[in-house]
Amino acid sequence: MSDDLRELYQEVILDHGKNPRNFHASDDATNEARGNNPLCGDQLVIYIKLDADGKIADASFLGKGCAISMASASMMTDLLKGRSAEEAQHMFEAFHHMCTGEGENVELDEDVEKLKVLSGVREFPTRVKCATLPWHTLVAALKGENEISTE
Ligand code: ZN
Repeated sequence: MSDDLRELYQEVILDHGKNPRNFHASDDATNEARGNNPLCGDQLVIYIKLDADGKIADASFLGKGCAISMASASMMTDLLKGRSAEEAQHMFEAFHHMCTGEGENVELDEDVEKLKVLSGVREFPTRVKCATLPWHTLVAALKGENEISTE
């Protein structure tokens, strides 16, 4: 990766980390779960509102943690709206592969490609948990589980 590109990636992460999108609780969430990454100290709650067709009508989060976890949650909640739970699971698999190199190389649509800015965590194994925490929490919420920990 060129230095310019790396800088751009850092800018996007810092921007989302400082000004997270969808950063609020939800009174009418149908699914919510709490995620905890004790290794770094990241803690967040993901709120999902599924509509009658099983599509994600709204997604938001609250929490505190490092710039990577906050940026990842911010970008994730931005991408979820209008997707089905199945599509969200598919996005999780694609993102997990991007961050770890494990599992199947899932085809990404253009929107999900944006998450590539976070794939630099691959070089830092402890940071992978920060980037994937919001996604693990999302998957738990969609399954009706209320709590996950990366430990
Ligand atoms: Zn973290």
